[in-house]
Amino acid sequence: MPLPPFRNEPEIDFSEPGNRAGFAAALERFRGQLGRTYPLVIGGETLETEAWFDSDNPAHPAEVVGHHASATPDQARAALEAGWRAFPAWAATPVEERAATLVRTAQAVRRRRTELAALMVYEVGKPWAEAEGEVAETVDLMEWYARQALELQDRDRLAKWPGELTQFRYLPLGVGVVISPWNFPLSLATGMTAGAVVAGNCVVLKPAETSSTTAAWLVEIFAEAGLPAGVINLLTGRGEVVGEALVDDPRTRFIAFTGSREVGVRIYERGSRVHPGQRWLKRIQLEMGGKNAVVVDETADLDLAADAITASAFGFQGQKCSAGSRAVLVAPVYDEVVGRVLERVSKIRVGDPVDPDVTLGPVIDGAAEEKILDYIEVGKREGRLLAGGERGQGEGRFIQPTVFGDVAPDARIAQEEIFGPVLSVIRATDFENGIAIANGTDYGLTGSFISRDPQRMSRARELMHVGNLYINRRSTGAYMGVHPFGGFNMSGTDTKAGGPDYLLFFVQGQSIAERI
Ligand code: NAD
Repeated sequence: MPLPPFRNEPEIDFSEPGNRAGFAAALERFRGQLGRTYPLVIGGETLETEAWFDSDNPAHPAEVVGHHASATPDQARAALEAGWRAFPAWAATPVEERAATLVRTAQAVRRRRTELAALMVYEVGKPWAEAEGEVAETVDLMEWYARQALELQDRDRLAKWPGELTQFRYLPLGVGVVISPWNFPLSLATGMTAGAVVAGNCVVLKPAETSSTTAAWLVEIFAEAGLPAGVINLLTGRGEVVGEALVDDPRTRFIAFTGSREVGVRIYERGSRVHPGQRWLKRIQLEMGGKNAVVVDETADLDLAADAITASAFGFQGQKCSAGSRAVLVAPVYDEVVGRVLERVSKIRVGDPVDPDVTLGPVIDGAAEEKILDYIEVGKREGRLLAGGERGQGEGRFIQPTVFGDVAPDARIAQEEIFGPVLSVIRATDFENGIAIANGTDYGLTGSFISRDPQRMSRARELMHVGNLYINRRSTGAYMGVHPFGGFNMSGTDTKAGGPDYLLFFVQGQSIAERI
């Protein structure tokens, strides 16, 4: 039966008292699940390991969210073998059935919606609305890719040739590796994995250590929804150990990675090496960091600009690849916009995101905290500190929302991804200079242009070299199926998650001609 047309999953409105009470209760209930043990899942079997690690709660670092098996390189090889054992049957499963499995999994995610959101509040410190929105995005990705897989098989774009029966079809690649980051622990692990499997591939999923519990839940849900054993194998463990083993292995057919530029570039180099016994060139997709700008001209609605800048810079503690970590303001409105941003920043509440009034939670781990605080020290030398600049109060890994003014376009805090609640404000002479500044980094992921002038908006469309350009809105908050997501230059290979072409990465086209 054909699937109904795609619709984005409605988000839950926490201004409704009933929804607030429901989620508060879910958070409380979830406490009972903290500290569970999660083994590896290889070929449908759970597997214990000698070494273990904990994923903790960044708002209370002593609280263990999940206790996880730490895989070895031998187990990485075993996971790839399990994938290859499952592959022939899964690849031969009709695409309608694969898509139906994904739709059933989306339904299972809907059923556990509040639990999954609660888990992300505890495991990665997401404020309520962000956690909830991510579950909705996860459902969207599953529903979207299910439809895309069906659409892919119906594409018939060939010209006719007399005397031949021709066909063009897409075949799955084989067994690939999905390496996911912690900042969208559910939706990014889902997007890459679901895209691969609905196209007929099998996967070894290696999630970030700090969000392994969310990934383990995802794999459980896929299994409950009827995905055959071995199609998704869960390999938790250290990136430099098992991630690397998977990248290097000649049995790996493709690698889908989302994470930092540093690790992405390393995977690109290592993954392109051809090892003895390897019968293909590994296909590699990399979605990496950003240093996104919100450009504001003098015709702009300045409240809209200040809202967009604040939301882009500080949403989820600035830990989004799409975060607008640079505000580029033309001189005539520079002071006014800075003033309005600072007013909004002063209202941000830092703390444990279990509290619904908290708008800025903790940063993910000790290493991130140290790195961000180091950048803040750099910022104090490079710019003028206008807000924040210190740790927040409490035992969690809290950092105050921090704003630096008068930052030079080539300063380190204007060029390097900080991945924390730090905004650099840069002065531009006019809007074209602003766009040139926005384009002046190695990255090219998202960008916003705020203006009331239609001609300038057209110029921004022509000139802003980013994968996702937003006009008169924040630089974050892409909806799947609506805003296909992926960056240019050092932001990645522009695979456009949630877009009409995403699944092409996971298939190879075969052309068949039969003489008649
Ligand atoms: P990270 O690069 O530190 O880790 C990502 C994944 O790579 C983790 O699973 C990690 O264990 C693994 N890994 C680490 N070293 C490895 C190695 N040597 N070989 C193989 N795998 C290895 O990134 P992170 O801190 O988890 O995520 C934050 C980064 O991700 C930021 O730079 C952010 O901009 C980026 N990001 C990009 C997008 C996008 O769509 N472009 C989306 C989300 C996050």
